Amino acid sequence: MKKPTVITILGATGSIGLNTLDVIGRHPDDFQLFAVTAHSRIDELLSICKRFQPLYAVVGSQAAAETLQTKLQEQHIATEVLFGEAALVDVSEASEVDTVMAAIVGAAGLLPTLAAVKAGKRVLLANKEALVMSGQLFIDAVRESNAQLLPVDSEHNAIFQALPTAVQHNSVSTDFAAHGIAKILLTGSGGPFRETPLADLATQTPAAACAHPNWDMGQKISVDSATMMNKGLEYIEARWLFNCQPQHIEVVLHPQSVIHSMVQYVDGSVIAQLGQPDMRTPIAYCLGYPERLASGVANLDFANMGALTFGQADAARYPCLQLAIDACWHGQAATTALNAANEIAVAAFLQGNIQFGDIAKICESVLTQADMPAITSIEAVLDCDANARRIARSLIPRGQ
Ligand code: NAD
Ligand code: MG
Repeated sequence: MKKPTVITILGATGSIGLNTLDVIGRHPDDFQLFAVTAHSRIDELLSICKRFQPLYAVVGSQAAAETLQTKLQEQHIATEVLFGEAALVDVSEASEVDTVMAAIVGAAGLLPTLAAVKAGKRVLLANKEALVMSGQLFIDAVRESNAQLLPVDSEHNAIFQALPTAVQHNSVSTDFAAHGIAKILLTGSGGPFRETPLADLATQTPAAACAHPNWDMGQKISVDSATMMNKGLEYIEARWLFNCQPQHIEVVLHPQSVIHSMVQYVDGSVIAQLGQPDMRTPIAYCLGYPERLASGVANLDFANMGALTFGQADAARYPCLQLAIDACWHGQAATTALNAANEIAVAAFLQGNIQFGDIAKICESVLTQADMPAITSIEAVLDCDANARRIARSLIPRGQ
């Protein structure tokens, strides 16, 4: 019998984390949970520990750790509870671990994800912000450690699936010319405000922004989808994951989210990956690679699907997309600063402190005001991130 894959799930209580557990639950003999982590949702983590019996659970604070440990003991569950950033790193790089699902949202995922990469793990990357904020350093670490980086993000997973097997083996060093690849066609639905009158856009509420027409996701990525900053971050993510030059990536609007992205070849062929808008498909692909695992996702029903349509993203509607594309080719500091500014602006929007239309304005102002030093270390990444957050916070009106 095959040995089970030993896995750590960073961000187990989130949308990606829970979908990962759903797929793993369908294959109990194939996976063994080493650790699960969550920032604050202790009861959710408790029920995960009950069902999956991981060796470790990691939470954000000592108080949360004590609460969870007591509840686990009451229920005779042997999971050991740890807390803090160092513990996140420990459970990512531990020698027993084969695979790390990197599904913490935002910059908080950088150090544990990087630790998994440096330890040469199979890293299932959902946490796109970690790659966006550290770019070349992250990819250099992948090359040095021979970690296997598999993209969970549905678009990048589709692209990965549409690439030749030889390229998949080292996709961070993809040679477009050598494999006859013309470009990547990165699809995006346009989010919930694709048809909202432009005049009404600036004042949209958090509830409306989080109501994505096709996908059910965490709050931050839902807002990013509404601004299309998500597509911008994904553009940067694709650049690093697949070693792209500017002519190698094109964003295509595709409102139905059936095609998850495509690869165009020099002979005119386009290879696409299609599926339901359900993250269990890319998650199962990464968990099983190169084998296919049943994911619980329904088959596509072509007879009743209706039309698939395509278009171009309107620059006036989605200023964040262009900010991200420009930052991508400007340099590392620009993408680190943009990611940080966006995290602050999105959190302020979700708290009701700024309007939807202010997210792009804050990001743009931070890019104008922030220093753009050359970035050659993770310390420099963290400095640049902290500086951009400071500037972004200074642009948010107080007391609202
Ligand atoms: P989510 O908000 O649902 O969950 C986030 C997880 O991260 C939770 O487990 C939370 O406890 C943990 N977390 C949050 N802040 C933390 C901190 N400071 N320290 C440690 N842990 C922390 O988010 P999500 O939608 O699951 O997204 C996770 C990542 O996957 C994001 O980077 C997102 O861009 C990416 N992603 C998500 C989807 C999706 O469908 N949800 C699709 C593609 C990519
Ligand atoms: Mg995506």
